[in-house]
Amino acid sequence: MRELQDLSRKLLEDDDAGVVIGWEEGPRGLRPAFVTDPEDTKRLIFDPRAVHNLAAYLSPRRAHLREKGKAAVVVKGCDARAVAALIREKQISREEVILIGIRCAGVFRDSSCTGSLSAENIADRCSGCDQREPSLVDHLIGEPAPEPPGTSRRSERIDELDSMTHEERFAFWRAELARCVRCHACREVCPLCVCERCVADKTDPVWIESSSHLRGCFSWHMTHAMHLAGRCSDCGECERACPAGIPISLINRRVAQVVRDRFGYQAADDPEADAPIGTFRLDDEEEFIK
Ligand code: SF4
Ligand code: SF4
Ligand code: SF4
Repeated sequence: MRELQDLSRKLLEDDDAGVVIGWEEGPRGLRPAFVTDPEDTKRLIFDPRAVHNLAAYLSPRRAHLREKGKAAVVVKGCDARAVAALIREKQISREEVILIGIRCAGVFRDSSCTGSLSAENIADRCSGCDQREPSLVDHLIGEPAPEPPGTSRRSERIDELDSMTHEERFAFWRAELARCVRCHACREVCPLCVCERCVADKTDPVWIESSSHLRGCFSWHMTHAMHLAGRCSDCGECERACPAGIPISLINRRVAQVVRDRFGYQAADDPEADAPIGTFRLDDEEEFIK
């Protein structure tokens, strides 16, 4: 913690950064913090309640947060994958951001959790994580992180869905999406939902029914999944933010499996990696490319 506060203070005092984006104590656990005064860097905290992916605040949609100058943002390994995607997609340039990488041993499911990390309260994505030390960084802080507790059940849950018949799977998603209230928190928290005006908000014509009728909910989720195909950084923020407890990550991870199998691409914190979206091959066998 002290290391993070001292580094942030130095970045602000030396005018290398105009704002440090990190975490602070809030009314319900940790919350994102925007620190511009070196004296305020003592507010900055990192512990397993630092669940948020702060890359969401680098999106051009939130440029107002950086009016104070260059942003220094604290990133965990999974957050760095989203920053890499923003750079890869030319939403931001590498030079306009300072990345403070933090070694991480896992975070809670929710920022209001307390106590020690355990198999019961750890975020789904953390068990088995092999990106606990981000490499896309300007500064790397913290002690080497131990293995997070627990065993990942992620592929098991997807296998369970895959083993269902179409009818069973459709019934599963009908029941899940019936809970959706179309608040779009899943979109707002996503670091890679970068459109200034989302297709779901367009009214002339209406592309996606805006009510939380099942028709609109299916339409919204299929659109969201397709727009994130080959881009999703698997940070799990959409699922964490959902007030209805819908397991949205199951959709994104299944799509990510398809992208991996078809294109050999997996989300990485390398901005130079050739992602299927945004690249093409002249020898592509698909008709549409000719
Ligand atoms: S997924 Fe990995 S890098 Fe991300 S919070 Fe969990 S342990 Fe840390
Ligand atoms: S956050 Fe949950 S309830 Fe809100 S739109 Fe997304 S899936 Fe629906
Ligand atoms: S779709 Fe969800 S898991 Fe993927 S980058 Fe967006 S918030 Fe993260």
